[in-house]
Amino acid sequence: MKTYTGGCHCKSVRYEADIEELKDVISCNCSLCSKRGWLLTFVSTSSFRLLSGKDSLTTYHFNKNLIDHLFCKTCGTASYGIGKDPAGNEMVAINVRCLDDVDLSALTVSEFNGKDI
Ligand SMILES: [Zn+2]
Repeated sequence: MKTYTGGCHCKSVRYEADIEELKDVISCNCSLCSKRGWLLTFVSTSSFRLLSGKDSLTTYHFNKNLIDHLFCKTCGTASYGIGKDPAGNEMVAINVRCLDDVDLSALTVSEFNGKDI
């Protein structure tokens, strides 16, 4: 496990997350992800700590409203979201592009067919 830090562009929102070696990430083709260009990894809520910016976050919902698509009210950056895994456990979807010091070119990107869900 490695602890990564990340957050939004204006630095209001800052978090840290314990992630098992980050090498595979997900690119989703749903209507929102394709516009936002997220690269995603998922952690349990117990592996995620919001350090600052709770009051800077606002939420966007669409489709079945199952996922809290959080973004910063000031800079608009969507650095993470909260949803549920297939078993119903709360999960944090982290936008890997918003993590500090990650070499994106070293990651393997898997496509996820979110547009058909
Ligand atoms: Zn911000």
